[in-house]
Amino acid sequence: MVDLKRQYEHIRQDIDEAVLNAIRSTQYINGPDVKAFQKELESYLGVKHVIPCANGTDALQVSMMALGLKPGDEVITSSFTFVATVEVIALLGLTPVLVDVDPDTFNMDPEAFLKAITPKTKAVVPVHLFGQSAHMEPILDIANEHDLFVIEDNAQAIGADYIFSDGRRKKTGSLGHIGCTSFFPSKNLGCYGDGGAVFTDDDALAQKLRVIVNHGMEVRYYHDSIGVNSRLDSIQAAILRIKLRHLDNYAAARRKAAAYYDEAFAGQTGLNIPYRCDYSTHVFHQYTLKTSDIDRFRLQGYLMSKNIPAMVYYPVPMHLQKAYNDPRYKAGDFPVTEALSHSVISLPMHTELDEEQLHYITDNVLSFFNQQT
Ligand SMILES: *Cc1c(COP(=O)(O)O)cnc(C)c1O
Repeated sequence: MVDLKRQYEHIRQDIDEAVLNAIRSTQYINGPDVKAFQKELESYLGVKHVIPCANGTDALQVSMMALGLKPGDEVITSSFTFVATVEVIALLGLTPVLVDVDPDTFNMDPEAFLKAITPKTKAVVPVHLFGQSAHMEPILDIANEHDLFVIEDNAQAIGADYIFSDGRRKKTGSLGHIGCTSFFPSKNLGCYGDGGAVFTDDDALAQKLRVIVNHGMEVRYYHDSIGVNSRLDSIQAAILRIKLRHLDNYAAARRKAAAYYDEAFAGQTGLNIPYRCDYSTHVFHQYTLKTSDIDRFRLQGYLMSKNIPAMVYYPVPMHLQKAYNDPRYKAGDFPVTEALSHSVISLPMHTELDEEQLHYITDNVLSFFNQQT
């Protein structure tokens, strides 16, 4: 699905030098690269504060801790997401309230969000799934009206722009009270291990976040609040500094691959190419097709037999997962999410796809359909 080896080879000299420097500095925790990366990411995103942490799941967790959410508080998010979003809500004793998504963008349906609000609702977590922003303008308006915190799960869309109806643009992750991201290797901005970060423009919140990720400690060995240990290490920060410089070019390479796929699949019945909304750029964390009237697992098997990976993100929505089994929800509650979990399939999408590979992949996808008729 990704080609991290070829990507590394293109930046090998810079990466090797940066990693060696980080090792030689012996400041493995909170070294100069961590601080420099933090500043560089703040400037890239246009946010006042970036707080690096250990992974994207922690980023979500410390955000909810910093906002002072308490057991029993309801947090709204979409059922069509990666488990981390819902996991941390449940872990903190908060109540995940799930809503359906938009059939075209796969992102939270603002209407459904509005309907799910109760007097116990404290926050909403829009997920910018597959590389495109959720429809933030209505979501922010609704949240504002109901006095709710907005935590963006930006793990899949770092670098995307949200475009407001008046033409203003802001980076995803910089729109709500807090933005969260992951630097997992296969994410659009990935390191060579685990990593994550939280973003905010709020000074007080940033201070709380810095304390929480560091054992609730402001003055060494004085603990004013319960925190966690969640840090980005210096070697990963050194790698991320190099890769951040390439992030926009990487997004362009992904868009180019997506355009190639689109053109090949445009006329194919049974395949729906990814929808582009007018309020977000697309950074194609995934290239996800909607299928109809085919068994996509047969398509996946067929591609596998040609050495082409294809994945289903996500086969089971959160409200139907065993761990999140909840009498409030049953099959049929979120028809769009359920239909998507039965019909989507994602093709290889990364920065190193060349024409020959794209030709091979699209040819084989189309030949699967030709064989069927
Ligand atoms: C990857 C991902 C996360 C979690 O990130 P980790 O760094 O793996 O903990 C959270 N939310 C979404 C939508 C993701 O894709």
